[in-house]
Amino acid sequence: MPKQIFTEIQSKKLKKLGILNSLDLLLHIPLRYVDETKIDLIKDIRPGSMCQIEAKIISIEVSYRPRKNLTVYVQDVSGDLKLRFINFYSSQIKQFKEGKILRVYGEIKSNSFLFEMVHPKYEFISIDTPLKDFYTPVYPATEGLSQKLIFKLVQKVFKQENLKEQYPDYFGNLYREKNLPSLLEALELIHKPSKEYEKELFDKKKSIFHQRVIYDELLTHQFFFRGKYHENKSYKSKAILYSDSIQKKFLNNLEFKLTNQQQSVFLEIRNDINQSYPMYRLLQGDVGSGKTVVAVMAALQAINSGFQVAFMAPTEILAEQHFEKLNYWLTKLGIHVELLTGSMKPKLKNISYEKIKSGEAKLIVGTHALIQEKVDYKNIGFYIIDEQHRFGVRQRVALKKKSESNKDFEPHQLMMSATPIPRTLAMNYFADMDISIINEMPPGRQTITTKVFSSDKRSQILDTINQHCLNGNQIYWVCPLIEESETLQLETAEQTFIDLSKYFVKHKVGLIHGRLPSNDKKEIMERFKKNKTQILVATTVIEVGVDIPNATLMVIENAERMGLSQLHQLRGRIGRGDKKSICILLYKKKLSDIAKQRLKVIYENIDGFKIAEEDLKLRGPGELLGLRQSGLPSLRIADLDRDHELLNIAKIDADFLLEKKPKDVSMHVNRWHRNYQDVGRS
Ligand code: ADP
Ligand code: MG
Repeated sequence: MPKQIFTEIQSKKLKKLGILNSLDLLLHIPLRYVDETKIDLIKDIRPGSMCQIEAKIISIEVSYRPRKNLTVYVQDVSGDLKLRFINFYSSQIKQFKEGKILRVYGEIKSNSFLFEMVHPKYEFISIDTPLKDFYTPVYPATEGLSQKLIFKLVQKVFKQENLKEQYPDYFGNLYREKNLPSLLEALELIHKPSKEYEKELFDKKKSIFHQRVIYDELLTHQFFFRGKYHENKSYKSKAILYSDSIQKKFLNNLEFKLTNQQQSVFLEIRNDINQSYPMYRLLQGDVGSGKTVVAVMAALQAINSGFQVAFMAPTEILAEQHFEKLNYWLTKLGIHVELLTGSMKPKLKNISYEKIKSGEAKLIVGTHALIQEKVDYKNIGFYIIDEQHRFGVRQRVALKKKSESNKDFEPHQLMMSATPIPRTLAMNYFADMDISIINEMPPGRQTITTKVFSSDKRSQILDTINQHCLNGNQIYWVCPLIEESETLQLETAEQTFIDLSKYFVKHKVGLIHGRLPSNDKKEIMERFKKNKTQILVATTVIEVGVDIPNATLMVIENAERMGLSQLHQLRGRIGRGDKKSICILLYKKKLSDIAKQRLKVIYENIDGFKIAEEDLKLRGPGELLGLRQSGLPSLRIADLDRDHELLNIAKIDADFLLEKKPKDVSMHVNRWHRNYQDVGRS
C-alpha cells in the first residue's frame, strides 16, 4: 500500500470521500470540467456564461453598508468588469493592488450596468503566465480538501514509479479490439484532459477514456453476477422428471384454463428443474397475472418425483392465504400441504416440524420460519419464494446453507416478483439468474379505472362507497403511509375506522394494521373475505398478494407520498374478479413536481411493466432496483441508464473471459472492488 504518498491528515480527509488507497483516488472521477484554456474578452462576455478573463486592477472599493462588500474593478483591452466579494478577509483587501494582473474564472452576472462576477476563482499572474493546456477537473470534494489539493494528490499518484507494473491491463487484446486505451492512460486523461478533446464528451463521461473505465467497472459487475450464474450450474441437483398424468389431473380440477404465457413459463421451469444442476429462476409478472398456479405446477412435479417443496411468503397473511388455496387445490390430488409460520402456537409448530421431518408434509407453505435452523426437511428439492423483492438478495445465501441438510444436492429455486423491472435491465442486472416473464392478464379481468382527487373532496367519496356496498361489493380504504412514525399511521387508521363506522351504520367496517397479533389479522381478513365486513380500513400491510375478488373499490389516502410500485401493488388488490373496479387516489395539496409526475403515471397506466419503465425514468435504476438496501455492490462510475449499451457488451465479454481467463478475471475483480468480495459469499 503506497500510503506514504498521502500525509496522515490527508488520508483522514480522503477517507471521508471513501478513498482508502491510491487506486481509489484515481477512480475518484471528476464531476465535470472547467475550461481555463482560453481567455475571453470582456466585450464578448454574456450573462449566464462561464468565462475566463485576464485583466488589470483599476480600483478597489470596500463598503460596509448595507453589508460587507469588496468590489474590484478590472479592465482588459476591450472593456471593464466588476468582481464582487461578500465574504472576504482583510488580508484579501491588501492583495488587490491597483495595476496588478489577474486571471479570473466565473459566471457572468448582470446586476448593474457593468457585468460582474461574484466570488470568482482568481489568480495573480505575470504577463507571460502560460494558459492551461488541459481542462480543469472539478471533483466531488469535502471540507478541508480543496479542488487544488485533490488535483495535486492525483497527479502525485501518477508520478509514482512502477505504476504500469502495479496496474497492468489484464485483458489487453480485448481493449485493443475495442479501440479502448489502457487503464492508466484512460485515468490520466480523465483527470487531466488535454484541450484538444471536446470538453462536452468529458463532461458527459462519454469520452473514450471514460468508456474504458466504465467498461471495466461493468465488466467487474458482470464477472460477479455471471460468475455466480456459472458457479450455480456447477452444483448438483436432483433432476425432477415431468409427469403428464399428474399435470392433467391438476388441470382438470382447476377452475380456469392457463393463459399461453403461463404455459410457456411452466415449460421453461419444467425444463430447468429437469437438469442435474439447480434452477435459479426469477418469474416476474404483474400483480394478478397468475404466477402462483405456475409455481404450484412446478411444485407438483417435484412432489411427484418424491421431493418436498417449501413455498415461502413474506407475510403471515399471505402465507395463510396461499396455504388455503394450495391446500384446496392439492388435497384433491391426495397431497399433504402443511403450514408453518412464526406465530403459530408452539404445540402446532412442533406437529408441523414432525411432519416435515418425517416427510409426511409434501408442500410446506410458510414465512421465514421455513428456513430457520429448527426446520429439518426430510427431502427438500425445491424452494419457491414469493414476492422475492421483499426478502432481499441475501436470502438466497440462507437457503443454500439450509440445503446442506441435503448434503450433496442443491434444491431448485423459483423466485417470484410482482415488481416488474424492464426486461433488459432485469436480464443484465440480475445476470446471475434466469428470468421468465408473464405480461398478460388472465382473460375476463375488468380494467381498473383510476381517479385522482384532492383530499378536500373526501366527503364525495362516501357516496361512491355506499353505492359499491349496496351493490354487494367491498372496499379497501388505505391510510396514509407516514414514514416518520408508524404510530401516527396507526392513529389515522384508527380515526378513519371510527369515522367510517359512524357514517356507515348499515355497512360493517373493519380495521387491519401491522401491529395486530397475527391471529387477529387472520380473523379480520377472514371476515372480509366472507363479506362479513364490507369496508376494510388498512395500513399498507395489505400491499402484498391479498386476493379478494369481491373488492371493487380502493381509496388510497396521501397517494402522493407513495412510490409508483407501491401504488401499483396496492391498486392490484382490486379488479381481481370480473367486476368493474375503481381506485381513488387522494392527495394533499400542494404537490411537488415529482409527486405530480408519479400520480400522472399511475393514472395513465395499468401495465406494471410500463409503470416500471416510467419509474426507471423518474428514479433511475439504482433506486428502482433498491440497490442501496439490497446489499449489492453499487456502481461508482457506471450508470445503468447512461451506459446500458456497454453493459450489454460487458455481459457477453464476461461470459467469455470467465471461461477462458479465470485467473485474470479474479485479479481484475480484486483490483476493482473490494466491495465485490464481501457480498453474497458467506
Ligand atoms: P399473482 O401473479 O399476483 O401472484 P395470482 O397467482 O394470485 O397472481 O393470481 C391472481 C388470481 O387469478 C387468482 O385468483 C388466480 O386463481 C387467478 N388466475 C390465475 N391464472 C388464471 C387464469 N389463467 N385464468 C383465470 N384466472 C386465473
Ligand atoms: Mg402472488
